[in-house]
Amino acid sequence: MYSNPHATVGLVINVVSQAIFQDTLTAYLVAMPFAIGSHYVLDFVKETHLKDDVFVYDVLPSWIYYIAGFFSGNFLLFLVSWIEGNLFDIIDKKFYLSVVNSKKFPATHYFHKHKTGIETTLFGTKLTSVVCVILFIIISLII
Ligand SMILES: [Zn+2]
Repeated sequence: MYSNPHATVGLVINVVSQAIFQDTLTAYLVAMPFAIGSHYVLDFVKETHLKDDVFVYDVLPSWIYYIAGFFSGNFLLFLVSWIEGNLFDIIDKKFYLSVVNSKKFPATHYFHKHKTGIETTLFGTKLTSVVCVILFIIISLII
């Protein structure tokens, strides 16, 4: 799965935890395993490769995510959520260097051994990204 949905789910988990627990540190600590673990679960959704549309549907949404986090006044929450939601890809894709140069930085599969999953269409992959952008913008406005 692309980084934008992972980040958004990580954010939702952290925001719910912050709403439940009055202590910020406790909320972060309780949310951490769920936000990190959500990556493994979400990767059972097999997205269609965006190819040339990856900028519009994953890179740009990541920029918007951080801008929304900045203007919400909760940048740390957005940053931590992004890292936790994408941690398994950050590790297996060597800080995404595997995406840039897979020969020099070969991807590992420590957290990506999924044999089965739910296939999605290109439209479904793009729609997921758009829904996630709407969701994290709403979150940035209400927290
Ligand atoms: Zn992954």
